[in-house]
Amino acid sequence: MKQILFISDLHLSQEYPDSLSRFENFSSALPEEVGQIFLLGDIFDFWIGDDGAEILGHDKIEKQLREISSSGVELFFLPGNRDFLVGQDFANRTGCKLLPDPSIVEIGKERVYLTHGDALCTDDVEHQQSRSVLLSSKWRKAFLNKPIQDRLDTALGLRKKSEDSKQAKPMSVMDINQLHLEGIMRKNQVRIVIHGHTHKPAIHEFDLDGMKARRYVLGDWYTQNSVLTFRDDEFILE
Ligand code: MN
Repeated sequence: MKQILFISDLHLSQEYPDSLSRFENFSSALPEEVGQIFLLGDIFDFWIGDDGAEILGHDKIEKQLREISSSGVELFFLPGNRDFLVGQDFANRTGCKLLPDPSIVEIGKERVYLTHGDALCTDDVEHQQSRSVLLSSKWRKAFLNKPIQDRLDTALGLRKKSEDSKQAKPMSVMDINQLHLEGIMRKNQVRIVIHGHTHKPAIHEFDLDGMKARRYVLGDWYTQNSVLTFRDDEFILE
């Protein structure tokens, strides 16, 4: 069986040339055994609409994604809190299939709950409030109707705001809420969750109603690649 890769939080941007070249190396040296790649959000540091890809220099990344999908690798894109505005034009250009957050997919013989992860951070009330505004179709429509330069200014302002407020919050508030997670797992009858967002790569094993459950957390790409690989019926976090 082909391998399945999961990555997130690359935060690709012309401002961080290191992550750009890391992604370029990753995409040009993909092993032949890779059959599917799940992009689990914040692949881009921000997104201002599919017509704004070029102004951000994201067109080069789109080309790399297109090369991957053209080579026969199935690409899935689940949006994060930074690139939630990725849309169908992007999908058509790159060959990515868009997935809603959350999505449940079958990996091996298991149902796996995929999410970017910020929706699980329920202790961060401020983030949840701004999340529900930004994800509303009303905000989305109004934003996408603005001229590109206005959108760029707004996006940079939002990024600044999010970075400032992150510094003011204790780490624990910005992590996932375990009780909330367990409720979701029970409701969806899953024992495996894969997410990013927190930038704290780890495998958390815990007991869920007498059964073994696992949460895989992907790391960011600021200093090195973080990839979760499913091969030979096993998940490996590297
Ligand atoms: Mn995120």
